[in-house]
Amino acid sequence: AKKWILAHHFDGVPKDSDLELVEEELPELQDGEILLEAQALSVDPYMRVFARSALKEGDTIMGSQVGKVIESKSPQHPVGMMLVGSVGWRTHAIVNVNQGPDLLGTPIVVPATPAPGLPVSVNLGVLGMPGATAYFGLLELCQPKAGEVVVVSAAAGAVGSLVGQIAKIKGCTVIGYAGTDEKCKWIKEELGFDHAINYKTRDVAESLKEAAPDGVDCYFDNVGGDFLYTVMRQMNKYGRISVCGAISQYNDNLDNQKSGVFPGILLIVNELRMEGFISTRWLSRWPEAFKEMAAWMKEGKLKYRETTTKGFENMREAFYGMLRGDNTGKAVVNV
Ligand code: NDP
Repeated sequence: AKKWILAHHFDGVPKDSDLELVEEELPELQDGEILLEAQALSVDPYMRVFARSALKEGDTIMGSQVGKVIESKSPQHPVGMMLVGSVGWRTHAIVNVNQGPDLLGTPIVVPATPAPGLPVSVNLGVLGMPGATAYFGLLELCQPKAGEVVVVSAAAGAVGSLVGQIAKIKGCTVIGYAGTDEKCKWIKEELGFDHAINYKTRDVAESLKEAAPDGVDCYFDNVGGDFLYTVMRQMNKYGRISVCGAISQYNDNLDNQKSGVFPGILLIVNELRMEGFISTRWLSRWPEAFKEMAAWMKEGKLKYRETTTKGFENMREAFYGMLRGDNTGKAVVNV
């Protein structure tokens, strides 16, 4: 069996020497345990953030995967069953099925959602944690209404690409910001966003004024930092902001972060509602989201894309690439 460990805590942009691929011997299975073999693994931004607080040097990198049960001493988990497991970056993992939840509060293993005709990796994207994040983070916190203007950043990523499409399904005008022209083309032409803007080549304030001359009602924030400030300045009265992520700040050292002045005054004068969340707040309702999103996919209203990397030994490169923006849609690694 192989696994990736945190060799050194990240300092700024992650380096090759920070993650190391090592071999591990697995013991015999005990009662209540299963042996899971990875089929597809997820690389997600939170791994950059949580590595700092939750891992010691030498620990296995956390993360979820779709794995197949290849040995079992748990009658409810027969050999061949596909599970979504929060077992870290491992090719093989022994799991005690009665173990408590992982550090994000998700169960250690759950059965994969069957999705006929789709790759199992959809359980790591649209029918997995990023899907639930988009669905509840937008619908519960922003409560977008038909005719309203919704802005989403990291709009061609796993979460953002779904947020924009769900907002379209709800009848909103959707403006997405992404980091390449290629990504913008995809979200506008294929996903039906009303506006897609490359934030690396256009000024955000100016382009937003053009795309939303009457202001913004909902902002789904994946990026934080200056981006958040800029959008906030153009929010309408009673606007709602769903604070999902702050990827522009993940490589900063939080202990000596340059602090801008938080534009709280804009929250007050416009009576904005801004709320941060962790998608597991609605964990018991995730199946509701997956059911509705699977139906939207069937009707052709919701599309997804994956950027896949082949080979467990390339997990590090897939992770760093996702943080840099190499991915369109969900970044996954197929074993
Ligand atoms: P993505 O698939 O969106 O991948 C990350 C993307 O972020 C990159 O592709 C890149 O795209 C963009 N990016 C990287 N650096 C910057 C930057 N400095 N400024 C703007 N964009 C940048 O990842 P996810 O969809 O999985 O996650 C999106 C966000 O949602 C993250 O902030 C993540 O932490 C958060 N999240 C929060 C959850 C919660 O429960 N609150 C759960 C899941 C995710 P580009 O080319 O456009 O720059």
